[in-house]
Amino acid sequence: MALIERFTAKQGEVGGLPISRALPVVGRRTVGAWCFMDHAGPATLAPGRGMRVGPHPHTGLQTFSWMIEGEILHRDSLGSEQVLRAGQVNLMTAGRGICHSEESLTDRLQLAQLWIALPEHSRFTPPRFEHFAELPQLSLGGFAGTLLVGSHDGARSPVPSDTELLGMDLACVAAAVTELQVQAHFEYGLMALEGELTLQLDNGETASLQPGELLYLAPGQTRLLLRSAAAARLLLLGGPPFPEPLLLWWNFVGRSPDEIRRFAADWNAGLGFGEVRGYDGARLLAPDVPALRAP
Ligand code: MN
Repeated sequence: MALIERFTAKQGEVGGLPISRALPVVGRRTVGAWCFMDHAGPATLAPGRGMRVGPHPHTGLQTFSWMIEGEILHRDSLGSEQVLRAGQVNLMTAGRGICHSEESLTDRLQLAQLWIALPEHSRFTPPRFEHFAELPQLSLGGFAGTLLVGSHDGARSPVPSDTELLGMDLACVAAAVTELQVQAHFEYGLMALEGELTLQLDNGETASLQPGELLYLAPGQTRLLLRSAAAARLLLLGGPPFPEPLLLWWNFVGRSPDEIRRFAADWNAGLGFGEVRGYDGARLLAPDVPALRAP
């Protein structure tokens, strides 16, 4: 039986920016606590047609923004106002509730927008916002690695997480090959952001990976061989399988349909999420909550 599972990302658009959504996809909801993954861009927007996402809420998760090209401005209900530049990470812990806006400051944009599900013990934590201007850089056999979260090869990212997690960006400018030591109790997801890569497992199984695809690996691997014949970039995400049932709807992560309906009603009534100041535009209202199935 094949160990590598392949999924096709869903193509869409957020705030005027083309996105490729690798999580959740039909058949794969999470990789560790990673429960949402959009690759936005790369795109050059027409001047004056920037990405604008008005104030909207989140609960039960952390938003993790990894900027690859360009700059965006983040504002939230805690009063944070932070420019996110290439090579930097914004981590916003929604906990019991926060709201924020995002707008582009440059025409050229590329970023990864990820969500991390919070475990039961911290999902109602008070909201907070953290910015990381510098992350550990690793040299991995022709690939330049940026350790976004977790640890690898003796390095540790300053980005905290409530569950064991790995996030790593790997980029090469020419042909490259690297062997990555990985954790047997983690599951992994690989998403190509640029170029074409080949993944090989210890049993000899190989799979190619292109933008718009997610490769999933169940726990049990200790070594991954990555190869590219030309310039490429990918995101490697990992963590122990998330043990709690999750219900994602709109911008909320909860555990039951009732909870989701309450989050949506509270946000639309202006209760409990605070207010974003300084954004020139309307807040986004939650759509009518459809019939949701308990996870
Ligand atoms: Mn958001």
